[in-house]
Formats: sequence, structure tokens, C-alpha cells
Amino acid sequence: MSARPTARGRVVVVGGGAVGLAFAAACADEVTVLEGGPPRPAADPDGLDIRVFALSEGTRAFLREIDAWQRMPPDRIAPVARMEVFGDDGASRLEFAAPPGRPLAWIAEGNRMARAIEASARERGAMIRANSALRGIAARPGGARAELEDGTVVEADLLVGADGADSRVRRELGLAAHAKRYPETAVVAHFRCEKPHAGTARQWFRPDGILAWLPLPGDRISIVWSARDGLADELAALEPAILAERVRDAGGAALGDLAPDSEVARFPLRLVRVPRIAVPGAVLVGDAAHGVHPLAGQGVNLGFQDAAGLARTLDSRSPLERPGDFGLLRRHERSRRADVDAMQFVTDRLEWLFGIDARLAGLARNAGLRAVDATPWAKRLLAAHAMR
Ligand SMILES: Cc1cc2nc3c(=O)[nH]c(=O)nc-3n(C[C@H](O)[C@H](O)[C@H](O)COP(=O)(O)OP(=O)(O)OC[C@H]3O[C@@H](n4cnc5c(N)ncnc54)[C@H](O)[C@@H]3O)c2cc1C
Repeated sequence: MSARPTARGRVVVVGGGAVGLAFAAACADEVTVLEGGPPRPAADPDGLDIRVFALSEGTRAFLREIDAWQRMPPDRIAPVARMEVFGDDGASRLEFAAPPGRPLAWIAEGNRMARAIEASARERGAMIRANSALRGIAARPGGARAELEDGTVVEADLLVGADGADSRVRRELGLAAHAKRYPETAVVAHFRCEKPHAGTARQWFRPDGILAWLPLPGDRISIVWSARDGLADELAALEPAILAERVRDAGGAALGDLAPDSEVARFPLRLVRVPRIAVPGAVLVGDAAHGVHPLAGQGVNLGFQDAAGLARTLDSRSPLERPGDFGLLRRHERSRRADVDAMQFVTDRLEWLFGIDARLAGLARNAGLRAVDATPWAKRLLAAHAMR
């Protein structure tokens, strides 16, 4: 980030997930991060983390800027060279190829990514306090404070709520959130595959949900099956080898036989709209500020853009402004609105369209996919969004 224009302020971040830590690394002010969970273990296990994320070009550029990308082990990051999206009639499909010299996206493990970001945040001077049991927070025009159960009080000019989808900060600040539970649960697991995946990500819009196969390093893939709730229960209860057969068949055996390579995890899915993310002295970032369906793999990418944008806004303040000034935070809020609204709208509509069982809707969505595929400008637009 650029040289400081004015005196350093003090910022307290509640929540040390990937987004809170990335903001701490990017922010030029003095930052304390209060994380409720335990400290990160000294090293990550050899096995692949069950949480993997599709990271966009914009995210990669931001993580490079804060010296975090360089700390992620390159052999654990899988570039996505190509993406194929299928309708449910066996014929409709969309294909995206990466532009020359650059992948469409990257797939990285959650634990290694967060470790790299945390190391950068510490190196850049952030204080990170794990096991922080929050007693309460307060924000007002002149500043903010967070109080912990052990009696510690952290005073700051600005409080940043990065405490995830169930944000307590959001609740305590009185910021309204409109949540809609999707009738789907994401079933996540990794598999070894018989045929090389060649860096291709695949997604099937099926009558019973949306299935994504993401390439991992080597001969492995990670799947996210956003399955109607009854099906999610059924899939999660299957013997691993039987689940592998179900996943193989649902994907038309595109990579031959699959062998289970991880536990099976489940995540309930929600749309969370937060019309206002700022009050004088406090602001929300990441999942605390917006929940989106994972079908576009964009939640943490949006969160990193929040983190980068907020750090930039603070950095560009005039010598007369303090980090918690409402005008400054409103500027940030406005700058993020369109991006978040667009992502929530597109993912919510797609989920709805592909959630309808009627045959007519099936015909319409398959025709829609074919039409987009045959329309170069529409495809370019979608691909540009996927790669931002
Ligand atoms: C199945 C699935 C697949 C996904 N795939 C993708 C993908 O491919 N690409 C993508 O971009 N996004 C993806 N997402 C979205 C992504 O997981 C989230 O957007 C991202 O994890 C949000 O990060 P965060 O740091 O905002 O919140 P979190 O990761 O929830 O972190 C919040 C942190 O705050 C801490 N905390 C909570 N409460 C308190 C408290 N009171 N005091 C102190 N600390 C507290 C927590 O311990 C945690 O460390 C996916 C989501 C799902 C469910």
C-alpha cells in the first residue's frame, strides 16, 4: 500500500479468519486482531485440508500485494486451465478456456492460505490474539472498544467485524441482516481420479442440485455437491466407496473411477443480505457483511475485495479524517455495494432457476446455457467475471 498520508490510527478487528487477517496485513494503521478460536497449530498436517477455495486473479494479486501468496506452497496450489458447465439434458454446456499465459483461477487449501496470510499480518506489525472471548463491543463517532471476558479492553478508532456469517459484531451494532436458508446443503469431499483432470473444473446443474468438481494438485479433485437437503443426508451417510460411485456417475464418469480421499463435510447454505455494513466507528467485512451461495465460488474472493478496498479507503483518508469517521466508512460501503449485489443476485437466481423441478424450467435453463455458449460476448462477460 502507499505511504501514509497522516498519523496512524488504531484499528481492532474481531475475527481472525482469512478475511480479517488479510485486512490486518493490508491495513497501514496499527491493528489488533481478536480471534475467538485457538492459535493456529505449529504446522499444517500433510493431508489436504477439506476446505479448498477457488481463488480469482484479483484475489491472487491482492494476496501477492500483502506478501501472502508467495508464502503459500506452490505445489499445493492447482491452476484451473478450463471450466465446463453442463445443463441437465446431457447436451447443453458452456466452456471457458483460460486466456494465454494465465489460468482461469487457482484452487488452494484453506489452512495453508490462512497460515500464509497470518504470517504476513504478523510481519507487517499486526497483533493477533487467539482465544479472545468477547464480552462486548461498542462503537461511536469518536472511536470503538472491544472488551474480553478476562477484563482486557482494546480501545481503537475503528472496529472491523470480520467474525463470519453469524457475526456477533453485526448483531451488537444493530445492523440488520436478512437471511434466507437455501434448501440445499453443500457436501464436500476429495477423491483420487483414474484419468488426469488436466486442470479442468466441471459443474453440473442437475435437477437434484449443483455438483462441482475442482482440480487439486496431482490426480485428485474436490467436490462440492450443493444437494437438496434429503439428498445431502443420504450422500453423507453413504459408505465412502459408494459415495465415490455416486459422484462418478453424476459426473458421467468424466475422470473414470473415483476413490475416496478424505472425510465428508457438510455446510448449510444461506443467502445473507446486509443492507448497511457501517455505523460510526465500525464496519463489517467478509461473510459478516454478505453471505452468497458457493455455486460461483466467490464468497472469500468478495471478502478479500472488502479487505483490500477498506484498507485502500483508510489509506487515502485526509489528515483531518480518523479511521472510524462515518463519511469514510460510507465511502467504503458504497464502493462495495454493486459488486456484492451483483454476485448475490446472480447466484441466487441461478440457484432458483436450477431448483425448479418443472420440465419447462429444465428446458428453459438448458436453452439458456446453449444460448450463452453460442453468444461470444455473453460468454466473454461471464468468463471475465469468473477471472476477476
Ligand atoms: C461449501 C463451501 C464452499 C465454498 N467455496 C468457496 C470458493 O471456492 N471460493 C470462495 O471465494 N468462497 C467459497 N466459499 C465461501 C467462503 O468459505 C467464505 O466466504 C469465507 O470462509 C469467509 O471468510 P471470513 O474470514 O469472512 O469468515 P470465517 O471464515 O467464518 O472467519 C470468521 C472468523 O471469526 C472468528 N470469530 C467468530 N466469532 C467470533 C467472536 N465472537 N470473537 C472473535 N472471533 C470470532 C471465527 O473463529 C473465525 O476465525 C465456500 C463456502 C462454502 C460453504
